[in-house]
Amino acid sequence: MSDPCVICGCKESPFGSGDGEYTRCVHCGVLRTRYSYNAEMYGEAYAKNYLLYAESTTNTPLQLFRVGLVSRWLHRGDKILDVGCCVGEFLGFAEKYYSCVGFEPNKKAIAKRRCKAKIHSTMNGMILPSKCITMFDVLEHIEKPREFLKLLFTYLSPGGIFVITTPDVQAVGDKGLKTWKHYKPKEHLFLYSELSLETLVQSVGLQILHWGREESDIRPDNPNGDIMTCVARRPSL
Ligand SMILES: [Zn+2]
Repeated sequence: MSDPCVICGCKESPFGSGDGEYTRCVHCGVLRTRYSYNAEMYGEAYAKNYLLYAESTTNTPLQLFRVGLVSRWLHRGDKILDVGCCVGEFLGFAEKYYSCVGFEPNKKAIAKRRCKAKIHSTMNGMILPSKCITMFDVLEHIEKPREFLKLLFTYLSPGGIFVITTPDVQAVGDKGLKTWKHYKPKEHLFLYSELSLETLVQSVGLQILHWGREESDIRPDNPNGDIMTCVARRPSL
């Protein structure tokens, strides 16, 4: 017997012949890595990618797209918390219109910051609450996604919005899965489908407002347009 799906509670079944590195939930379609989370190994593997990213050229179209997206639900001066902000590339654009704070546990990334906004390396001491929490390409790395979103929910003002981008596992068929660039079982601990992401955000009390995609014209290294965007709202009091 495999463990129940941590997203929807349904029993998982092994992917394909069962020799894969993920298990797939038969109901919500989320893939969960078979690897035990090892903070040391994970930190080491991921830190390399992170620092490569920190050296990369700023992707202005992507960041303008993201600022435009959040602007649909925000007013000038509203507070944004960007979780897993890396070098603060999004914050560097968003801070022209909003009051911004970042959270980034990797201090080497913070040292290469591209924003004026303060970036915290721990959750302690962050000024609360925020009108908007963004989590770009972060959720797939989180070992306990429900617990993490529950915590972040408390950092969000009533009526505030939560913006998540993550790879959509349904963007590739089963045959293409293992060669997909996001098939990284030691880094991407979960690969979500729309249904599993919807189930997750609703389970912490958020209401879905919008689905979108970051297409290849702004994510040139993702030719399938395989990054989905979910915007959800914390209900007003
Ligand atoms: Zn499930």
